[in-house]
Amino acid sequence: MSFALKTNLVETSEEEIRYGSVVVRFAVARSPRKTLSITVDTSGDVVVKAPLDALTEQIKIRVRSRAGWIIRQQERFRQLNAHTTPPRRYVSGETHYYLGRQYRLKVEEQTVKSVVFLSGRIVITTPDKTDKKLISLQLGEWYRQRARLFIVPLFNRCLAKLPIEEYQKKRVQVKLVRMEKRWGSCSSQSIIRLNPDLIRASKGCIEYIIWHELAHILNPYHRKPFYELQDRLMPDWRVWEDRLRQFRPD
Ligand SMILES: [Zn+2]
Repeated sequence: MSFALKTNLVETSEEEIRYGSVVVRFAVARSPRKTLSITVDTSGDVVVKAPLDALTEQIKIRVRSRAGWIIRQQERFRQLNAHTTPPRRYVSGETHYYLGRQYRLKVEEQTVKSVVFLSGRIVITTPDKTDKKLISLQLGEWYRQRARLFIVPLFNRCLAKLPIEEYQKKRVQVKLVRMEKRWGSCSSQSIIRLNPDLIRASKGCIEYIIWHELAHILNPYHRKPFYELQDRLMPDWRVWEDRLRQFRPD
């Protein structure tokens, strides 16, 4: 008789799986139970409760099958937690995103206005350190310059990689346009508009929007052929779609 085992015994271990380019880490708590459950708590930690005899490989298969959901939950909590951060102050030490990474601002008072990216910081010179409106305009203009230097060439590289002949008949054009609440759009004349605010997100997120809009050139609607093409162009697009959720077009 092993009834004592039925109550308290819990074994825990740390495991991880790869999903596209994302590593999903999780704790496994084995106990005398019959079913397996996966939960994501508000800090984003993943806990798998499993029967004592569940094989690690089986658990990994289950986690992989729920990975899309897990990542969405983690992003949701990250966003909810981000909402509690105060509004931007545009002072030295504050962090701002650029290509998916956070960089500290350094704000210096000088007569000449400039924004430069210097040894891992975004250095802003401005006539009045307390003029937050002006600093936010300078920073916004800098982001748009960087977007022109980075996003347009990235778009052209994606376009050159397109494996499908049908694209050659279209004259695809790209424009950077600030849009409220949209990252990109594609017109029936094959003009793709990309939001320069994308420069705050990582390269993978920007590529995801590029491939998404390029898929629209041949399929205007979000239907099956569209998704089949998007899967071909960028097999792990879901990961980047999830990551992009923490950013919002200004
Ligand atoms: Zn779309």
